[in-house]
Amino acid sequence: MSTVFKGSFTQQEPIPEAGIEAALRVMRGGRLHRYNVADGEVAETALLEEEFAAFTGAKYALAVASGGYAIGCALRALGVQPGDKVLTNGFTLAPVPGAIAAVNAEPVFVEVTEDLTIDLDHLARLVAETEAKVLLLSHMRGHICDMELLMQICDGAGVQVVEDCAHTMGGAWKGVPSGRHGAMAAYSTQTYKHMNSGEGGILTSDNPDLMARAIMLSGSYMLYARHRAAPPPEAFEQVKWVTPNVSGRMDNLRAAILRPQLADLPRQIDRWNALYRAVEDGLRNTPGLKVIDRPAEESIVGSSIQFLLPAFSTEQIAEVLKRCAARGVDLKWFGGAEPVAFTSRYDSWRYASPQSLPNTDRILSGLMDMRLPLTFSLEDARLIAGIIAEEVRSTALSA
Ligand SMILES: *Cc1c(COP(=O)(O)O)cnc(C)c1O
Repeated sequence: MSTVFKGSFTQQEPIPEAGIEAALRVMRGGRLHRYNVADGEVAETALLEEEFAAFTGAKYALAVASGGYAIGCALRALGVQPGDKVLTNGFTLAPVPGAIAAVNAEPVFVEVTEDLTIDLDHLARLVAETEAKVLLLSHMRGHICDMELLMQICDGAGVQVVEDCAHTMGGAWKGVPSGRHGAMAAYSTQTYKHMNSGEGGILTSDNPDLMARAIMLSGSYMLYARHRAAPPPEAFEQVKWVTPNVSGRMDNLRAAILRPQLADLPRQIDRWNALYRAVEDGLRNTPGLKVIDRPAEESIVGSSIQFLLPAFSTEQIAEVLKRCAARGVDLKWFGGAEPVAFTSRYDSWRYASPQSLPNTDRILSGLMDMRLPLTFSLEDARLIAGIIAEEVRSTALSA
């Protein structure tokens, strides 16, 4: 009998006890709205923003309703107009092009490389060929490209960069935290990301004008002075008259749950990376399977792992998926003809104009993806990698 994995790929850890206690305190006080504070009280949301700004090194931070909201808010703050072209990754998740569509702008997709990062040659070409003035850069599945080169391309052409850090909260490029290169950065605190408040997002920036606009957009009314990781009141003088309220605040309950998780994040990152390296080691040297080598410049948060089966046919990949599933290993495939669960592709987003990305098609057709929740032990990680390696081997042999 071959071994079967019995764990759940979607089971996260419980909220830390300190977070549960803080949430109870907020609920007992009844002051869940971020601007509802007692005399002398500082809202949990304002404290979270202050602590998150310190964590990333950003001057300003704003807590909002979701990661997708944070991205949309950044595009609005940058003044993206209906019909504008916005560059973004061909390989990302649906909320990214969705945020572009939500401001009636047009996504222009950039190819992915075999390292699963944005193709900088293709980006440079599109920057030259289109009038796009914004790149919404998705660090999809935590893979960070050469950020210095990317910023050179974009700065050189006056293209503003918004970083989607949904998968890189706590990651870095050459020691610079992910999110610290572009004009603004969006993070998600949705259940499947690196901190869990069910839903939630955080936006960061060093630019006082952009952040003042973002705070007004999020629905601050004229209470922006209650923010602690915000630009000074002068930054709002003009902005407050011309910025619509597109309500999307975070509440104190979520912030209370998140603050202890933020304090714990460095330790959690080490645990994720230990799981990641255990799976990576177990997959290495499997014939037909290509591990994605991570550059030395990149500090990762290994909350998921990807690998390629470049020479496998569609039928063989379906066979690997079926065999692994039968042994309890839940792999996702980015090459399927139909979008499944969270997995969709640039050609599934048919509200965008049709675009052809041959390299992305080829790479995604062999791309496998797997979550690594912290409820897994190192033993689980080794068992899972062993199952995948065995099933890839036997599928290759039976072909
Ligand atoms: C989850 C996710 C988002 C959006 O986050 P939500 O909080 O779910 O809105 C954006 N980009 C990527 C790549 C994501 O995985």
